[in-house]
Amino acid sequence: MDIVGKVALVTGAGSGIGRASAVRLAAENASVVVVDVNEHGADETVAQIEAAGGKAARTRADVTSIHDVKAMIEFAERTYGGLDILHNNAGIITGEPRYPDNEPEHWMRMLEINLTGVILGTQFAIHAMKKRGGGAIVNTASMAGIGYGFAPNPVYSASKGGVVLFTASMAPWKDEANIRINCVCPGVVDTPMARGGAQLSDTEEKAFYERFAALQIIAPEEIADVVVEFVKDDSLAGRAMMVRNGRPRELVRTSDLPRLF
Ligand code: NAD
Repeated sequence: MDIVGKVALVTGAGSGIGRASAVRLAAENASVVVVDVNEHGADETVAQIEAAGGKAARTRADVTSIHDVKAMIEFAERTYGGLDILHNNAGIITGEPRYPDNEPEHWMRMLEINLTGVILGTQFAIHAMKKRGGGAIVNTASMAGIGYGFAPNPVYSASKGGVVLFTASMAPWKDEANIRINCVCPGVVDTPMARGGAQLSDTEEKAFYERFAALQIIAPEEIADVVVEFVKDDSLAGRAMMVRNGRPRELVRTSDLPRLF
């Protein structure tokens, strides 16, 4: 898809990876809807885009709210005339106390934002994109959703693994409605989320993040590159791109995954 003149919406765009993605999509000449629960962060992203000569508008939406998700897509349609690109990126990671010692409400909220939020955003985006004859959706998963062994936060892994398989299972939408859905699986990226993890007092978790950070921390702009690549490459659907610390990026070999049918 040619990004010039398209309408893109990025969730969690008030910080980190989402901000980098919104800035990059605007630099590619998309009109960008900046969505976050953190309105101050979203304002900063819009200011950054406008300062660079790009087009952006922001709206507050909680990605777990059916009402808010409908409203954010209607906002894109009202403001810029439709929706062509969605980056389902908003996510959180729970800190201490760890599962199973944390309150269930704590990890349940993480599952809801990281997984339900992606499924909900995709649902309403498909309705909007069908009106435009197609579109591209990129979900932010994680290496924790593909590689096993993220012992500090197994529920985070489950949420991101869910995003990877949801994405893969949505591949037929490429043929059905010209809507391509892919996901990016970052290792440790230099954002407030990762820095927060590194500050945790728990020694094992701290060591885990430091081991990754020592490998070579990933800049959020590298993830934005992958988002743009997925949007531009009309051949890719249902795929997951690994962006590992200190290694070249690589598409997951989906041929290695067992198929249900
Ligand atoms: P971040 O904390 O810098 O940004 C996340 C943004 O999401 C924040 O602005 C936050 O306000 C917003 N958000 C949280 N809950 C929301 C909700 N319910 N509705 C709308 N917005 C909400 O973190 P980041 O590192 O940029 O993370 C972005 C995505 O990347 C997440 O899905 C995260 O799980 C994933 N990820 C991050 C890393 C990493 O190392 N930073 C690695 C792999 C995957």
